[in-house]
Amino acid sequence: MKLSIVIPLFNEEAVIGTTYSRVSEMLAGLTSQNLISDFELLFVDDGSRDRSLQILRTLALESPRVKVVSLSRNFGHQRALAAGLLHASGDAIVSLDADLQDPPELVPEMIGHYRKGRDIVYAVRTLREKDTFFKRATARFFYRMMQTMGVDLIYDHADYRLISRRVVEAFRSIRETNIFLRGIFPYLGFDQEIVYYERQERHAGDTKYPLGKMLSFAWEGITSFSNVPLRLASLTGLVISCASLALVVWALYEKFAGRTVPGWTSTVIPLFFIGGLNILFLGLIGEYIGKIYMEVKGRPLFFVKETHNLADASRSETGPRHTDASH
Ligand code: UDP
Ligand code: MG
Repeated sequence: MKLSIVIPLFNEEAVIGTTYSRVSEMLAGLTSQNLISDFELLFVDDGSRDRSLQILRTLALESPRVKVVSLSRNFGHQRALAAGLLHASGDAIVSLDADLQDPPELVPEMIGHYRKGRDIVYAVRTLREKDTFFKRATARFFYRMMQTMGVDLIYDHADYRLISRRVVEAFRSIRETNIFLRGIFPYLGFDQEIVYYERQERHAGDTKYPLGKMLSFAWEGITSFSNVPLRLASLTGLVISCASLALVVWALYEKFAGRTVPGWTSTVIPLFFIGGLNILFLGLIGEYIGKIYMEVKGRPLFFVKETHNLADASRSETGPRHTDASH
């Protein structure tokens, strides 16, 4: 059984070396126990602007099992990861972050489940003490909100997971621009399993996910998988319309009862209120139209600049098609 380890990275020159040795050690263990027969270590350079790519080139020169896909610019973690999955050739593929927050030592347990016939093994964080309070609070809010919106997510699971070849092929057939991998894998189905681990501190360097990127990621997840915001808009619209109808009846009644006074407030307040709602919901509808626009263009998900130790560099064209929008 061949195992692929896929690691997307962006400006991670400070950790690549350590990550490489930790993962190699783990892979050597698996090989010596005959749990795998072959492996590859596939790094996706997501348009890094530091020395990451140079370091990867050197690693690839030293070992043919190190493979590198370098994207033409920074496409974001999700697309970089997708690029890795689509270029991987293993029977099972494990994706993990470059910063060693996902301990590679968990992989043998995941392989165990794979050998028992599981197609997807999710690694779920038990404790997040090592994360800042802010990161934890926003993450909790994110999962709650997604749940409320009806998006099927594995709680506290990031992108540390094992998937089988079948699942990658299923993933390849997904042709949507706005990829949100954490939603896509539960959606794909197949036999799934969860393993638990303690989230580690980032080994070196800074987070590449500042608040802005996190917010847009959450929004991406909601609008890619859920129509609840649209439904909320229509429901609120309905309630407001009923209320307005009642107001009209009341206004007419007051008029015929002869009690009306020329009133500025009662004219202007509904005007503002309903005008505001109008704009809000127009904007919301616009969000979805924007998505349709992106999907319709059907641009590829990423562009590959260079590869190392990979025979077939054309896979991006057969993979899911995605727009060029920078999320
Ligand atoms: N990453 C990437 N492209 C980006 C941002 C991040 O490939 O545009 C990689 C990053 O190098 C790391 C992983 O995605 O391997 C997770 O990012 P990070 O650790 O910065 O996120 P956090 O753990 O702080 O949420
Ligand atoms: Mg991290």
